[in-house]
Amino acid sequence: MKPKSVLGSSTAELRDALSAQGFEAYRAEQVLHWIFRRNVLDFSAMSNLRLEQRRQLAAEWCVHPLERAAVFGGEDGTQKLQLLTHDGASIETVLIPEDRRYTVCVSSQVGCSLDCSFCATGRLGLGRNLGADEIVDQVVHAQDVAHTMGNDVSHIVFMGMGEPLLNLKNVLQAIRVLIDPKAGGFSPKRITVSTAGVVPKMAELGQAVPVRLAVSLHATTDEVRNRLVPLNRRFPIATLLEACRRYPASDRERISFEYTMIRDVNDSAADAQRLIKLVRGLRAKVNLIPLNEHPGANFRRPHDAAVSRFADILAHGRVTVTVRRSRGDDIYAACGQLGAVAREAETPIEAETRR
Ligand code: SF4
Repeated sequence: MKPKSVLGSSTAELRDALSAQGFEAYRAEQVLHWIFRRNVLDFSAMSNLRLEQRRQLAAEWCVHPLERAAVFGGEDGTQKLQLLTHDGASIETVLIPEDRRYTVCVSSQVGCSLDCSFCATGRLGLGRNLGADEIVDQVVHAQDVAHTMGNDVSHIVFMGMGEPLLNLKNVLQAIRVLIDPKAGGFSPKRITVSTAGVVPKMAELGQAVPVRLAVSLHATTDEVRNRLVPLNRRFPIATLLEACRRYPASDRERISFEYTMIRDVNDSAADAQRLIKLVRGLRAKVNLIPLNEHPGANFRRPHDAAVSRFADILAHGRVTVTVRRSRGDDIYAACGQLGAVAREAETPIEAETRR
């Protein structure tokens, strides 16, 4: 049986678990301090614990539930980590350097059940939900890689493989660990959870943790969105936007609407005009993401001129808009590309096994 990872527990939960094994109450904080503040990931090196306690921890617990199989480096500095679960599944986590930020994009499931038609992950189908410890471990691995380049992870986005709100229990537990001041120590304002529109779970997320919400909209009519995001047949655009209006966010926070632009599908001037009407009255910002093509994709990236025209129309309609620069598309690490099959195009810069 695989040992339990310390990464799935908040400080209080780990304190209770270790106390039940005879550890002093303060040992949990020491262990988490080593991991999250000192980047020491081996119990044997946690020198302020007694030797027999380090041995006991190593016998009954682990740090990493995930094994780092490889790290792929993109030309723009983006790094994609390929991580293996104990039951042999492969997941991907992306580390993205941007100006003064270092953002890690984590996966919440092995594969995904939602089958969005432009997304490589959707083709994989759903393997299983990731545990809270496996989600937190992606940040720990990414932090380890970032440290080798003299940086710290500053932001976390749940935009990797899977639909976070279909694994909400484990996603919430992972967020609680990540925002625990004595564990991950991240500000909830620096954590964004993205959903394709699992309407019944949106309010639950916002009430449980004050993280930012991103909604994958991708279309301005139900007809087109039904094609791109099949979940729209259950929760159409009007229902989704009503849930956004009810999302418990502070007055200063905006909901991000992710809009993957696809040539001749949703990149027209009429789409831009409809989008203005859809987000009117919401504290919203729109991120335009020109499609990242991947092997087997049936859709094409829009022309640059179409992206500029779309952004200009939104800005003219007083919608806050950004065009996302594609990060890591040469290593299939960009949005919608995770799990893309063309591994032969990738050369790992680090191939290793690390638990
Ligand atoms: S876009 Fe997101 S929700 Fe849709 S199939 Fe891909 S991973 Fe799943």
